[in-house]
Amino acid sequence: MEQEKKNSDHIPGSALQVMEGVEQPDQINSEAVKKFKARKRSQHTVEELVEGILTGNRTLLSKAITLVESSLPDHQEQAQLIITACLQSLNSEIRNTKFEIQNPKFEIRNQSIRVGITGVPGVGKSTFIEALGKHLTAKGHKLAVLAIDPSSSRSKGSILGDKTRMEELAVDPNAFIRPSPAAGSLGGVARKTRETIILCEAAGFDVIFVETVGVGQSETTVHSMVDFFLLLMLAGAGDELQGIKRGIIEMADAIVVNKADGDNMNKAKTARMEYANALHLFPPPDSGWTPVADICSARSRMGIDHVWEIIMEHRKITGDNGYFHRRRMEQNRQIFRETIETGLQRHFFAQKEISQVIAKLEQEIMNGLENPYRKANELLEKYFRKE
Ligand code: GDP
Repeated sequence: MEQEKKNSDHIPGSALQVMEGVEQPDQINSEAVKKFKARKRSQHTVEELVEGILTGNRTLLSKAITLVESSLPDHQEQAQLIITACLQSLNSEIRNTKFEIQNPKFEIRNQSIRVGITGVPGVGKSTFIEALGKHLTAKGHKLAVLAIDPSSSRSKGSILGDKTRMEELAVDPNAFIRPSPAAGSLGGVARKTRETIILCEAAGFDVIFVETVGVGQSETTVHSMVDFFLLLMLAGAGDELQGIKRGIIEMADAIVVNKADGDNMNKAKTARMEYANALHLFPPPDSGWTPVADICSARSRMGIDHVWEIIMEHRKITGDNGYFHRRRMEQNRQIFRETIETGLQRHFFAQKEISQVIAKLEQEIMNGLENPYRKANELLEKYFRKE
């Protein structure tokens, strides 16, 4: 309006040129409006995200994973709706293909395989994942690589994220690499990874790698969310040196000695024998599978295809004897329990009466002034009375 009025105040001529100059701020404003609209458009509805995931749209899959990883209540609510929709879609796919269950390849395509990969920093995890990943995408698989990095919640520097990793896979249209969620307790990170697995499977990824650094607790967590657990090792370094605990070796479905190349070949072969012997000392697992030791060179890609054959053999054996399905159901039972426990905990600590006194009580307990059992029970009673 203002503009029209000004224009009409002047006869066309040199003054018009001045007016053009004055119009500039309008242009900037309209850019800002466009930007704002674009921002609004980028906030997708739950329906849009679900549809995007189910049609394999990677951008929308990433956005949905970001919601899963967010701790904002709003985002969590949306994430739960998305996960439920994805689970429903996965279940109906599995039901539809039940008659095909005898054909392992078909079944695997519709019911993904989840592989945990661990080993100390430097053992060659990213090189190995890149090599096996390229082998799989060349065979027509769709691979998602997720990471659980226990260091990222404690320090800014992340063991898994501090270098350019898996350069070939990163640009492979059939691979999807998602770094570890940035922060939180191991339990929290694990829950998010479990949910991310579901989203990736709904998006059509039929092989899921969950990578972790073999330095602590996270292996047990990864083991609890995968079908096959692979431990990468180096030759010539004792278990102590590699920081791998006996319990982790016991969890492994396969131990693969990496860097079996050049001068290292003989050492790798010796190590394979030692691990094979060590594995025999453990009681046979109830999966019906006998864990194996093998060698590979992720760098030269020697033995990579054989590692996949081992995983497929495990899949076939555990599929035939029912263990694969039983284990997934047992993992679901665990998720059910954990979800209840987390929900209760969150509710408990969110109570005003509790959050107001908890720090003070903890300090008093640390100073030896209070009996921890008595105080804990008092708080619990207070909580239950309120319910
Ligand atoms: P990560 O920390 O476990 O992810 O290990 P990387 O994949 O980053 O590998 C650590 C180093 O070992 C890098 O310099 C790799 O090039 C090297 N490496 C990885 N695999 C092999 C292998 O099979 N043979 C040899 N000789 N070196 C390897």
